[in-house]
Amino acid sequence: MAKLIILVAPSGAGKSTFLQQAVADDDNLVHSVSYTTRKPRANESQGNPYNFISEEDFKKKIQEDFFIEWAKVHEHYYGTSKKDLEDIWAQGQRVIMDLDVKGATRMKGYYPEALTVFLLPPSIDELRNRLQKRDQSEETNLDLRLANAVDEMLSAPKFDHQIVNDDFDRAYSQFKKIIDGQYNQ
Ligand code: ADP
Ligand code: 5GP
Repeated sequence: MAKLIILVAPSGAGKSTFLQQAVADDDNLVHSVSYTTRKPRANESQGNPYNFISEEDFKKKIQEDFFIEWAKVHEHYYGTSKKDLEDIWAQGQRVIMDLDVKGATRMKGYYPEALTVFLLPPSIDELRNRLQKRDQSEETNLDLRLANAVDEMLSAPKFDHQIVNDDFDRAYSQFKKIIDGQYNQ
């Protein structure tokens, strides 16, 4: 079974929902928590689902080679710590993480044995609905996220698997089979 599972999805397609469920269902699967300069949303806190840091700190970490990959997505920085990944593997556990298209492509280059899964929304209208519902009263860059989503979805075929997140139970069960190595296309 893959020791590195990378979920790729446009914002709002459901990657956090899948990731949380997968971690809850398997003690051997650990979320590698990324670092970001984005501000936490109402239901988020330090370490969940990101290590929230300042732009100054992020840039310092870039200089120090702290990140195996990093990217600027929707005006904010996001990055993955190599040491965090290695610590999880050293415990004999598997890593699950979500990345943008560029980050996932780069990581697949470093770790060709990684399993990459692209999560698609059923439609752009439904993606808009889900983002609006999730982010309700918050200031969000909705139009930018939707425009990026259309762009990112063009890259879906580059990844090992594609799942349409229509009905959650159906889509998650497909995902679970894939990550457990029991999926036959
Ligand atoms: P992401 O992490 O990709 O930005 P989230 O996991 O936060 O996306 O999902 C965006 C919103 O859509 C959340 O409010 C989530 O509860 C909801 N959602 C996720 N999957 C489904 C689904 N299959 N059907 C309906 N709503 C969903
Ligand atoms: P959000 O702000 O909605 O949580 O995430 C925005 C985007 O950043 C998503 O596409 C998510 O997968 C991506 N992302 C999260 N963490 C990382 C990371 O460490 N590196 C890269 N390259 N992208 C990330």
